[in-house]
Amino acid sequence: MPVPVEPAAAPPAAPRKPAQRGWPGVGPQLAERLAKLDIFAPADLILHLPLRYEDETRLTRLADARPGVPVQCEVEVQSCEITHGGRRQLVVRATDASGEVMLRFVHFYPNQQKQMAAGARLRIFGELRDGFFGAEMIHPRVRPVAAGEPLPESLTPIYPTTAGMAQSALRKLIGGALRHNPVHDDLPETLRQRLHLPSLPDALRLLHAPPPSVSALDMEDRGHPAWQRIKLDELLAQQISLRRAYAARRAKNAPALPLHDTLTRSLLEQLPFALTGAQSRAFAEIARDLASPHPMQRLLQGDVGSGKTCVAALAMLQAAENGRQAVLMAPTEILAEQHYRKLSDWLAPLGIEVAWLSGSRRKKEREATVARLAGGQVLLAVGTHALIEDPVALPLLALAVVDEQHRFGVRQRLALREKGQAGESPHMLMMSATPIPRTLAMSYYADLDVSVLDELPPGRTPIVTKLIKDERRDEVIQRVRDACLQGRQAYWVCPLIEESEALQLKTAEESFEMLSAALPELTIGLVHGRLKNDQKSATMAAFIANQVQVLVATTVIEVGVDVPNASLMVIEHAERFGLAQLHQLRGRVGRGVHESVCILLFAQPLSQTGRERLKAIYEHTDGFVIAREDLRIRGPGEFIGARQSGVPLLRYADLEADAPLVELARDLAESTLRDAPQLADEVTRRWFGGRASLLKA
Ligand code: ADP
Ligand code: MG
Repeated sequence: MPVPVEPAAAPPAAPRKPAQRGWPGVGPQLAERLAKLDIFAPADLILHLPLRYEDETRLTRLADARPGVPVQCEVEVQSCEITHGGRRQLVVRATDASGEVMLRFVHFYPNQQKQMAAGARLRIFGELRDGFFGAEMIHPRVRPVAAGEPLPESLTPIYPTTAGMAQSALRKLIGGALRHNPVHDDLPETLRQRLHLPSLPDALRLLHAPPPSVSALDMEDRGHPAWQRIKLDELLAQQISLRRAYAARRAKNAPALPLHDTLTRSLLEQLPFALTGAQSRAFAEIARDLASPHPMQRLLQGDVGSGKTCVAALAMLQAAENGRQAVLMAPTEILAEQHYRKLSDWLAPLGIEVAWLSGSRRKKEREATVARLAGGQVLLAVGTHALIEDPVALPLLALAVVDEQHRFGVRQRLALREKGQAGESPHMLMMSATPIPRTLAMSYYADLDVSVLDELPPGRTPIVTKLIKDERRDEVIQRVRDACLQGRQAYWVCPLIEESEALQLKTAEESFEMLSAALPELTIGLVHGRLKNDQKSATMAAFIANQVQVLVATTVIEVGVDVPNASLMVIEHAERFGLAQLHQLRGRVGRGVHESVCILLFAQPLSQTGRERLKAIYEHTDGFVIAREDLRIRGPGEFIGARQSGVPLLRYADLEADAPLVELARDLAESTLRDAPQLADEVTRRWFGGRASLLKA
């Protein structure tokens, strides 16, 4: 049973299924709590690994305990009382043969008080410190014991847990699961030996119950061979499922769209520029995929301004040449409309109509467009997610292009794929300006083919980036005036206020007022997310036509907007923006022949990350380098919106730190699938099987 089938259909972060039914020994209530820990079956318990360890295999004499080092001592309670001086506390005086300690509890329950009555024998675990009244421990872990009770034989694992799930209960469950569910190793013995890795069962046993001979610190170090073995297994499962998804998709049918060089050739002749080498290469790769009867799943990756749109247009025309439909979906109204205009400009002379679908179209027009698409009279369409809404039928759909693909969720991309004819999957072309660092490409994007635009169109002047303190805003306004009086245009981006959209709106309106007052000789426009769509597009149109010289905007202009005459970008409170966002915003200028400047206004004091981000954006213009910095500052999950990518998230392996393991897992996935498919099933079932219900979501 190959699991999972399609990563794109398998969002691990999908809303949880309602109450799990549980399994022998685990009732529905417990199952529900375990589900919060992503545990849905005994096998998941086995892979629920400790965060850290405590050493309770040894007893330390009170006299030998050094401050600040966690220790376990066995003591007898001398007195136990609640004091009220200052804060209410439970204070327990206890001794062993070597000395005395005060245990202090600010939070406590009546039964704890009972447990620690005078005469009780306790094992306490905590850090000793020198208090005013001598040695004390604040909130130690306490366990009453009988005299002579044996010590545990392994380090005590501390697991990630959730409210209502005690460590001891979790430990018991995991111990049981380990005993009753034998785990097999799926790596060839010789390979394991060559890599000096323990077998999987040994690694699991060691991690759940390390013998006292290893130190807790060693075990917490994820570089330990046992951890390496687990991480390799996890990465192997991921690689196998990605490869299977890739193969499953390749096995589907898609309309073969051979390149006839009719419409595509006409567009090339009609464009005011020649393709860059990178664009030609990318289009050749796409054209070859489209000609095949299996669905293309390709990522067109190119830095901002590298010219992805016209590559998309060519691909769409290749579909049209074959009498089939193609759509281009963009994440925002502004961007979709801009694409629509651009495509219409390019294609009208070829006699090709482009349909335009968005939430802002009037109902009548919309219905007419939908009808023409359903009837197949129009082959090409551009739109927002309005394209994937229900009434839109695309019976001839053969190619779907998704711009700024990371802005869309799995479901939306999937919905697009479901349009078109039964028994056929359309070719998919995703576009993204976010370059993917190599390790990410090998994992999250391993089921995509990638074309890269690694060359900018010629004649661009590099953008100069300036970091300027907030107080010098007046000088900056003067620069805006100068640029606009010379015939250029400027963007003024208002600060991001994540907590409050209303506040963000307010600052945008204030900036608009402020600039209108300061620059009476210029026309200032304002766009933000709350404007009605037709207002927004009217302002954008005026900006494109240079009737508006300064565009005050929130981040709605972040993606895609292309106005080559705009050569100045001012970003207020740049320290609040993410790195990728700053790079995207800056990419709005430097699109024409004029020297462009991006001014980052910042307010002090700067946070550590704020400072790091500004430094990175100031020093680098290469999107690839910026993406790597971003990955470093933010971590991979957020970086690509992995929770949306549909590819199972990694729990233990770290793509950056474990890059060599990723490479190893990739090779191993190939040989495992080829030589031992049943092992491949076992590995993926182990890691994703318990979440099967989610995988089918
Ligand atoms: P992005 O990759 O960021 O989506 P666009 O497709 O918006 O980039 O292209 C940026 C600008 O460059 C557009 O104005 C586009 O018409 C222009 N352009 C695209 N390809 C070329 C080329 N080969 N030569 C000159 N200009 C080009
Ligand atoms: Mg674009």
